[in-house]
Amino acid sequence: MQTIRTITAIAVAKLLICLSRILGNQGTAFPGRIARKIDPHILQKLAGNVKEEMYIITGTNGKTTTTNMIARILEEKGYSFVHNRAGANMITGITTAFIKESDIFGKRSFEYALLETDEANVPLLLKELTPRVVLITNFFRDQLDRYGELDSTIGLIKDAVRDTDIELVLNADDPLVVHFHNDTGLHCWYFGFEPTDYDVWEDDESREGRFCSFCAAELQYERFHYAQLGKFYCSNCGSHNPRRNFTGHNLRMTPEIRFMVNDLEISSPYLGFYNAYNILAAVSVAKLVGIQDDVVQKAIASYQPRAGRMEQFMIGDKKAIQVLVKNPTGLNQTLATLNTDVSSKALFFALNDNHGDGRDVSWIWDAQVEAISCTDSGVKSITCSGLRSGDAALRFKYAGFDEEIIEVESDLEAGIKACLNNEAEVYYFLCTYTTLFPSGKILSRLARKSQGRKQPGHVRRKLTVRGE
Ligand SMILES: [Zn+2]
Repeated sequence: MQTIRTITAIAVAKLLICLSRILGNQGTAFPGRIARKIDPHILQKLAGNVKEEMYIITGTNGKTTTTNMIARILEEKGYSFVHNRAGANMITGITTAFIKESDIFGKRSFEYALLETDEANVPLLLKELTPRVVLITNFFRDQLDRYGELDSTIGLIKDAVRDTDIELVLNADDPLVVHFHNDTGLHCWYFGFEPTDYDVWEDDESREGRFCSFCAAELQYERFHYAQLGKFYCSNCGSHNPRRNFTGHNLRMTPEIRFMVNDLEISSPYLGFYNAYNILAAVSVAKLVGIQDDVVQKAIASYQPRAGRMEQFMIGDKKAIQVLVKNPTGLNQTLATLNTDVSSKALFFALNDNHGDGRDVSWIWDAQVEAISCTDSGVKSITCSGLRSGDAALRFKYAGFDEEIIEVESDLEAGIKACLNNEAEVYYFLCTYTTLFPSGKILSRLARKSQGRKQPGHVRRKLTVRGE
């Protein structure tokens, strides 16, 4: 039985959720914040309605996609669950998510809770919630101005999970993640990839975690999958990748992803190695939940990318793909994906330096933009936009692109239209965080307009792929 206080908190928050919906806002954090003021224990109480298990998904890159994929699998299976979908991943947004799914008396129960949160929020969440599993996708530095915080954040997460019954699901290929077992003694499950055709040997990207977590000696790598993820060992103390429970193998990216997870065949409309990791992480969780193979296969195959995560738009007969890039690793991965597509490309890059993007845009110099400046990359034009369009243009110029093909248009709408005016088979829209939603809005408006004028009829063109 919930108290009057709890019921009041739920009622007020539900009203605020309704109001913000009417006003057209996402309003995901505010209702939860107010509810917590009325009843500080509201989250703990509602979390008590989870009948089966709670999963927390964290890490620097890929947590949203991974969580959305797990949600898709649970949905396919017909389970009920709480999920902080709208990307509100602070404790207030998570409170809102529980209230949204709850009835007014706070009594409706769910089978699962799927909570995505930033690394720094994990300790705070664990003060109020007792998940069965914490999944860590990877640790990368997000922005230069956050450099140095990563180690202390990792330490805080370890302190928060130590002496609990939590099980960890960890990326076996990330040296910054794998030492959680030794430092916490918790039961760990590992996912990772066998050698793939896409691995590299030379170390030319901005990489984290090149040093052994046990003895601080420099790690040796047999191969890199991407960034610091790969097969590594320490010649000083002998530490190496842990043994995997969920192994990704036979990876093909054409550019759509296909691979095996243990003996389960997976295919997905997603692109890029980093998304193969997200799929592998999601499938690992599905296996732990005990979901049947055919349900997992169907859910992953039918899962369509969401806003900014390789979302596609058809504008007339032009195929536009929007991608969120927020750090050097994300940008490197996007550029690597571009290289697997041999179509001629028009590139759009919108760079802002608002708080959500990180004030310091020098991270673009840490990314390997040079990787696509070669003549056979198929990049025909580059449109730089956003508040720091000039810095972006400079980066491309120094990467070796001909100035002739670089244009600068700081206004997003004008920039997007300028990009679409160029000749290309595919249009890639790379957007930093605060340019993502406005650009997405413009792209979907243009797509709707073009479809009004023209009857669909345009079939999705298959990407031509290098080496196939
Ligand atoms: Zn070592």
